[in-house]
Amino acid sequence: MEELYKNAIAHPIFKVIGEAADELQVDAYVIGGFVRDFFLGKAIPKDIDVVAVGSGIALAEKVGAKLKGKPKVKVFKNFGTAMLKYEPWELEFVGARKESYQRNSRKPIVENGSLEDDQNRRDFTINALAIGLNQHHFGKLLDPFNGLEDLSAKIIRTPLAPSITYSDDPLRMLRAIRFATQLHFEIELQSLQAISENRERIKIVSKERIVEEVHKILMAKRPSFGFALLQQTGLLSYIFPELAALQGIEEIEGQRHKDNFWHTLEVVDNIASTTDKLWLRWAALLHDIGKAPTKRFDNKIGWTFHGHEFVGSKMVYKLFKRLRMPLNEKMKFVQKMVLLSSRPIILSEDHVTDSAVRRLIFDAGEAIEDLMTLCEADITTKNPKKQRKYLNNFKLVRQKIREVEERDRIRNFQPPISGEEIMQTFNLRPSKEIGIIKEAIKEAILEGEIPNEHKAAHQFMLKKGEELGLKQCN
Ligand code: ATP
Ligand code: MG
Repeated sequence: MEELYKNAIAHPIFKVIGEAADELQVDAYVIGGFVRDFFLGKAIPKDIDVVAVGSGIALAEKVGAKLKGKPKVKVFKNFGTAMLKYEPWELEFVGARKESYQRNSRKPIVENGSLEDDQNRRDFTINALAIGLNQHHFGKLLDPFNGLEDLSAKIIRTPLAPSITYSDDPLRMLRAIRFATQLHFEIELQSLQAISENRERIKIVSKERIVEEVHKILMAKRPSFGFALLQQTGLLSYIFPELAALQGIEEIEGQRHKDNFWHTLEVVDNIASTTDKLWLRWAALLHDIGKAPTKRFDNKIGWTFHGHEFVGSKMVYKLFKRLRMPLNEKMKFVQKMVLLSSRPIILSEDHVTDSAVRRLIFDAGEAIEDLMTLCEADITTKNPKKQRKYLNNFKLVRQKIREVEERDRIRNFQPPISGEEIMQTFNLRPSKEIGIIKEAIKEAILEGEIPNEHKAAHQFMLKKGEELGLKQCN
């Protein structure tokens, strides 16, 4: 007798779907991520993909009508799919289909098909597992490609020939790498080769879809796993030429620099173990991209990357733009992190002065903690003694930041004297003197000449005005 997996679909919602399918006399299955994650013993996913051998839309409407509160069914006629939300579930319905592809598009030509056709069009064997929902096969697993075996062997494999699967829809190349990274699976060798061979076809995938997968790789426990695969398959050069350019070690006169690509991946893994902030992980990924274009060899001092932080922060903008990522405060945050990425290191190497700390807090603002997290992740030395020393230095910098911030409140710096007040005091119209005075006050505060307070700043303004030959009005 065949084994049934009724416990995968124990929730009453599956009974409702099965009954609706029986009434419509179509076979229905839960398929894809839900089934995969059940067998992986993961937390029950909120997304349920249902495939109907018949109209997915009709099934969705029937299910919607049966559920308490009659949730609204969203129909996507063009795609032949329908969706409904029933807390906490999000149900997605599709009719079983057969797909065929054209060379220049990811969008297939679709015809109605059998369950088998539908399983054939799925990307990976582990994503093609289906469990019957009708009464006659409630709980029955349909696993034509031995997806269960691949799950336990931890292998990513395609149902059909990999070269065709990846060429048809090149997004699957990234999905393979993403799933491998999330699940810590291995990509089967043939698949890996097919990805290498088809890498150029990534060009027909929209930037948005690419970035979506990169986000998921970055949010995995060990993102380096995915980036190493991107590098190994050659996809990296298409998606992130800036990162690909970091790879390699050059030697001149016996002097070598470190491989900045593999270093970067270590930094990303490090930061992944301390923060779940997506954009901070992006900052780690991009923190050294300025090193490729700024690399020089100097006879006296060896390898240098002068100004790579500034160059890198400019590259962040171009990269975000190219990948159609948001050019908003998130991008600015990443830019800021890259630009400031060496500042705490310089601080920690030197005797830490209050004014240097104030300047760092001023420049980093709210992002100061994140910047320190990035710098700590940037320590990749294999020498335990050095590692301890660097970490300890940063601890001291963090402490100093806390002390100075408590006293001087630079983090959300607002000029204690407004332009308005300067104009009134000296009876000025808008003019460059106002800017000069404001800047001088800010500098005096950052240098510690005066405290960050109105009274002291007012006195300072009067003195500065006098120097500029301005007359105070009464
Ligand atoms: P998760 O939602 O956890 O990322 P998932 O497997 O549910 O994983 P979805 O993107 O939600 O992934 O897709 C649902 C299912 O649709 C997949 O399991 C797979 O069977 C199928 N699928 C999705 N994208 C593709 C694709 N590009 N090619 C072939 N099948 C796909
Ligand atoms: Mg899903």
